[in-house]
Amino acid sequence: MKNVDYIIVGDGYAALFFAHQLTKNKKSFVIFSEGKKSASQISAGIINPVVLKKFTTFWLAQEQLDFLRTSLNEIENYTGVNYLINASIHRIFHDENEQKLWLKKSKTEELLPFLNEDFKHLEVVKNDFNTGMVEQSARLNVQGFFDDLLKYHEDNSQLIKEKFNYNELNASDSTYHNFKVKNIIFCEGMNVKTNPYFSDIQVIPNKGHHIRVKLSQPIPEDITIKKKHFLFPLKDNLYFYGGTYDREQMHENIDDSAVEQLKNGLLEFYPNNFDVKEIHFGFRPTVKDRRPILGRHPQHKNLYVFNGLGARGILNGCYFSKSLYDFIENNIDLPEEILLDRFNKKDA
Ligand SMILES: Cc1cc2nc3c(=O)[nH]c(=O)nc-3n(C[C@H](O)[C@H](O)[C@H](O)COP(=O)(O)OP(=O)(O)OC[C@H]3O[C@@H](n4cnc5c(N)ncnc54)[C@H](O)[C@@H]3O)c2cc1C
Repeated sequence: MKNVDYIIVGDGYAALFFAHQLTKNKKSFVIFSEGKKSASQISAGIINPVVLKKFTTFWLAQEQLDFLRTSLNEIENYTGVNYLINASIHRIFHDENEQKLWLKKSKTEELLPFLNEDFKHLEVVKNDFNTGMVEQSARLNVQGFFDDLLKYHEDNSQLIKEKFNYNELNASDSTYHNFKVKNIIFCEGMNVKTNPYFSDIQVIPNKGHHIRVKLSQPIPEDITIKKKHFLFPLKDNLYFYGGTYDREQMHENIDDSAVEQLKNGLLEFYPNNFDVKEIHFGFRPTVKDRRPILGRHPQHKNLYVFNGLGARGILNGCYFSKSLYDFIENNIDLPEEILLDRFNKKDA
């Protein structure tokens, strides 16, 4: 038997940010990765403290941004790379009313740190009413983050490239195959629905597509443009455009309607020709109150779930990995807002 402090099931944002907490605190662990492209790996990597429909912010936005920057600096210490790309979001205004609303909100205490009052006109794209810049917004280098971290854990014999088989877990003994483990953290995204210990948690899949396009005229490299969706450069002259939201289509194939939606969204503000080169999709694990779900199994005290990261996998995954770590190792209560059993309490 091999003794480990933790098994992490999954390899998306929840898993890798939790693994960072373990690395930082010198705990022993292994990560089970079934090798599918996670929703995390196809995500845009946008780090954004503002809801760009209504120009509002959300719970703990500033704390989450600060904590993410610190964590990415810590990760840089062992991978040698900082995955933060300091490229601000420029939101294209649809009309004068949106400009007025932005200005009004930018004077409120909540939004003052995030909404820049000086509108900017962008070259190449259509922006008749200019754009508003989101302060402190940025992007994660998604591919670099996953390629390097998974390799780092593999090189340290912490990555097991296998599907974790729930039937082979002996929860009362705390053993799995040849592992004797103190705690197991399930970070499976939507696949949690097949986990017999946590299948009833209230996450709802939200399917998202993005396209990778070749643009005939390049756009500014150092910003992220947002109208309906986000547009920004990747490597090799490809640009990311997406993602869509869909709660109805749950099949494991590309939806043509989502691709049409993306093409039309891009046509609205990109006046030149473009070619769609790649199409990707994934399922966001969303929750009705838009907050993650974390907690301990009611009977098996060594089993935990870390899920419901929704549309903000990076900020939620990074920030709440520490909450979960502190709960397990330091007996610090999890915030009520994210508790696994909050829905049962309300329904009771
Ligand atoms: C199109 C799109 C764009 C997005 N853009 C952004 C964005 O810009 N910014 C942002 O913050 N968020 C974004 N998101 C949301 C973000 O991707 C999700 O919140 C996040 O991916 C959820 O992470 P997770 O780790 O919980 O799950 P996942 O990313 O789904 O990872 C779970 C992983 O666990 C593996 N797994 C499951 N069960 C097992 C098992 N039994 N054994 C082994 N492995 C297992 C799965 O194969 C999967 O790889 C976007 C999502 C989509 C779909």
